[in-house]
Amino acid sequence: MRKSILSSGVCVFVGLGSNLDNPVRQIRAAFSNLTQIRNTSLEKCSSLFSGPAMGGQKNQADYINAVAMLTTTLPPLDLLGALQENETLQGRIHGERWGPRIIDLDLLIYGARTIDEENLSVPHVGVAERAFVLVPLFELDPELVVPNLGKVSELVKLVDCRQLVRLESAIIGEHCK
Ligand code: ADP
Ligand code: MG
Repeated sequence: MRKSILSSGVCVFVGLGSNLDNPVRQIRAAFSNLTQIRNTSLEKCSSLFSGPAMGGQKNQADYINAVAMLTTTLPPLDLLGALQENETLQGRIHGERWGPRIIDLDLLIYGARTIDEENLSVPHVGVAERAFVLVPLFELDPELVVPNLGKVSELVKLVDCRQLVRLESAIIGEHCK
């Protein structure tokens, strides 16, 4: 069912997160749904990682996070719209910003572009300080340079990874190369 790899696409990274309704299943479904986005090809899936909710949300369940590498010929806002459609498809109701969520899809990196628009900031604001973003990014591409921020291999050394647990990556090969 995989679409052929786009020869002229931009390389983008999408962050996936869930802490509701069987989060591992939600992340797997989200990887699968990424293969359905038009003009876009899912190239690689990171392992799944488990960790506590960010920012003092102590009464929330742990999160499962992962990152997907894609190529796309969609412009950034169209890709964001497609990601939001996929969130809705999985039953996300956009409400409380920092609350629990069934699925969160963030456009982390879009090629070498930096974007600062009302509805879209790229690189995503959380890239530099979030272990659950940097560790899977490093796993997917240790040579990656994050626009404006520098090498992922350097950034990952600056974050606290002690509470991040790498889970089995049974999905590699299921949705991705
Ligand atoms: P968050 O992911 O920050 O916890 P949401 O998923 O609820 O919060 O997103 C809120 C808004 O963030 C979205 O309506 C979207 O327009 C905006 N946004 C800005 N930059 C990005 C990005 N790089 N990826 C995804 N959403 C973004
Ligand atoms: Mg989001």
